Amino acid sequence: MATKRAIYDEVDDRRDEIISLLSSFLEIQTENPPGRNYRDGASFLETVLSEREYDVELVDVPEDVVERHYPERSHLERVNILGQKMFGDGPNIHYTGHYDVVPAGEDWTKDPFDPTIENDRIYGRGASDMKSGIVASLFAIDVLEAVNAELEGSVTQSMTVDEETGGFTGLGYLAQEGYLDGTDYCVYTECFDSSRVCLGHRGVVKFKVVTEGRKAHGCMAHDGINAISTMNDFLTRIEEYRTKLHQRTTDLPVTPNESRRADISVTMMDAGYSENVVPDRCTATFYRVLVPTESVADVRNEIQELIGETENSMDASLTYDEIMFAEPTSVSQDCRVSQTFAQNVESFYGNSEFVISPGSDDQRFVVNDAGIDQCIVYGPGRLEQAHVEDEFVLIDDILTAIKVMAVSTAQLIGDLDE
Ligand SMILES: [Zn+2]
Repeated sequence: MATKRAIYDEVDDRRDEIISLLSSFLEIQTENPPGRNYRDGASFLETVLSEREYDVELVDVPEDVVERHYPERSHLERVNILGQKMFGDGPNIHYTGHYDVVPAGEDWTKDPFDPTIENDRIYGRGASDMKSGIVASLFAIDVLEAVNAELEGSVTQSMTVDEETGGFTGLGYLAQEGYLDGTDYCVYTECFDSSRVCLGHRGVVKFKVVTEGRKAHGCMAHDGINAISTMNDFLTRIEEYRTKLHQRTTDLPVTPNESRRADISVTMMDAGYSENVVPDRCTATFYRVLVPTESVADVRNEIQELIGETENSMDASLTYDEIMFAEPTSVSQDCRVSQTFAQNVESFYGNSEFVISPGSDDQRFVVNDAGIDQCIVYGPGRLEQAHVEDEFVLIDDILTAIKVMAVSTAQLIGDLDE
């Protein structure tokens, strides 16, 4: 029977192979927005899975579904990939990750799509967030097979699109179409560092509010209704609301500590035509973060109430336009998948840390939509490296994550000698 030692050695032996696969994957420019080159990314992953003898399925998202979520980008293909491997009738473990990356941006000192290795780091867009996570879960299973680990269940690997813009046509679509049915344990391999097990995330509602007024010449302002003045009233109420939200804290381990509360920020403003025109329209954009005890429906009601107050006090009309929402989500640290991963993390770091993400990710589709409680987020790479210039991942971090994934998988769906 396989041992932990044999698994660890096998991972270390494959270091070059791991770096090489990740480097090739990083070269594919799957930038989102807008969501380009997904067909190339999918073909690459299809080959990788087929070589490993997975049963592979490509899931094209129908254009009308894309149009509903991304009307301006419906001409671009959305392709999700699933690979499945049966070892026996035991439980199923599903590793999932997104293969879109945020746009590289201008300020790199290295080529974001021609990966470089320096000081045991791999640089490239998506190195942390999160192509290394996808590569890690692939190698975790390779290694188990190489050491003849006794596996009694099945493994699913999925790679999805559009997480960086909400995930509705990626993992959200797979959840909705039933592709997650039959999953016993799910690991979303997002970059939370190989030393931490992430149990959930806060939620978010992004929305715009538009105040409408009446245009007038600045020298006869009495004829107009100034939309900025109306917005000013609304923003004053938002500031009071923000103070109240800061009292809504959570005991869950949201990291950093300062994020253990609900919050709202006004993030964009747009109004005005000329210095001598009273504006008839003002638009403000807001970012409202939810702690796991709140729901998106509550937030919508609260915002509507504030809108109503401004409408009454200013005798004006306001409209609410929602851009995107994500419900908060969290799972128990006592469930089997959380405990198994935490114990294996501990053997490398001496302790393990459970965290809740301050942002939001695709985990919610698995837990909230597909109803799978045993779903954690665990993967190599650092959250601080996500979306920044000169993004990198530590090679050691990838190797440790693979070891933790491999041993945990063997324990969850098979048998392993100490
Ligand atoms: Zn990500």
